[in-house]
Amino acid sequence: MSLRSTAGEGDGPLLDSDSGGWCCRCGVVHSLPVRPAIKDGLHLMGQLCRHQRIDWLVPERFRDPRCDTRCLFDKAGGKMFGVLSCRDTGGKRIVLRAFSGQYNGLWQVEGWVGPVFDVAAFGALVGEPEREIKRLGRELTALPHGSSARQLLRAQRRTLSRQLMERVHCLYQLVNFRGATQPLPRVFIGNGAPPSGTGDCCGPKLLHHAARHGLRPEAMAEFYWGASNASGTKVQGRFYPACAAKCQPILGFLLCGLP
Ligand SMILES: [Zn+2]
Ligand SMILES: [Zn+2]
Repeated sequence: MSLRSTAGEGDGPLLDSDSGGWCCRCGVVHSLPVRPAIKDGLHLMGQLCRHQRIDWLVPERFRDPRCDTRCLFDKAGGKMFGVLSCRDTGGKRIVLRAFSGQYNGLWQVEGWVGPVFDVAAFGALVGEPEREIKRLGRELTALPHGSSARQLLRAQRRTLSRQLMERVHCLYQLVNFRGATQPLPRVFIGNGAPPSGTGDCCGPKLLHHAARHGLRPEAMAEFYWGASNASGTKVQGRFYPACAAKCQPILGFLLCGLP
């Protein structure tokens, strides 16, 4: 796959768009270049093509059917993937890989950086409230449209969902290259509370992992893989900068401390 064929054309996203965000502490935009990581991104695309699964580091007999890549080509099945080119303390180059969010319900897959939060703590926190939210949802559908009982229940469910999201977001303790740790709601500089899924994109996962493991990032590239989305804003094999709604409002913090 040539660089040209994957580069943004016309008014699409530009290949040269580096990912970054405003840092409140330093009063500047911190960013990482994309170009030096393009080769690593293309290499990962090649691996996805060749292996047709994302757990290729696991011996064949232990492979998890959920790690198959065919699902990415189902309608609305496409996903963002990312690579972060880093140096360890000895100067050796290390390339980290990430997929956005969960992969078929999996947060952790061998060879990929995990989520920003502790998976066990997350499971313990969301289990009960999620069952309650689902129960309210079932009750809702049984009530007549426009009835006050239905409206009341709907409001109750919305409050529960919001409270749960706030508590979940506090599990996201983000670490940066200055060695600072902050919970996601304090880091987020967008309007209002962080949207659902903030911190689950490839960029934050990769940077958080690097900061926690003493790696110094030099470049980052994120690309889309699988069936294009309905609106056509995401196309297979194209590189995209960090998203504006969820990532840019936290990248300034995450990148802080890098030269
Ligand atoms: Zn994002
Ligand atoms: Zn800074």
